[in-house]
Amino acid sequence: MKNKTRLLVETMKRKTKEELIKEQVKFHDRIRKQLNLNIVDCGNCGATIVHKRKVDDVTCPDCLETMEVSVCPDIYYKEMLKGN
Ligand SMILES: [Zn+2]
Repeated sequence: MKNKTRLLVETMKRKTKEELIKEQVKFHDRIRKQLNLNIVDCGNCGATIVHKRKVDDVTCPDCLETMEVSVCPDIYYKEMLKGN
């Protein structure tokens, strides 16, 4: 395939930011439902924390702070999509 044609095909296949976020939301939702796990950012240092769903507290493996899960923002949740 010529370079110009390949570039055109790659551009056509490239997903938009909204499509990529939608995909992340879908993957995260699958992790939550099938594995009963949730992925959040630490409310203290911002590190990624994976925790079991429906727990009250979580301890960050990075800063070792224990906090309520409610202060740890979810990553890629449905409400962040447009129209929700
Ligand atoms: Zn932390």
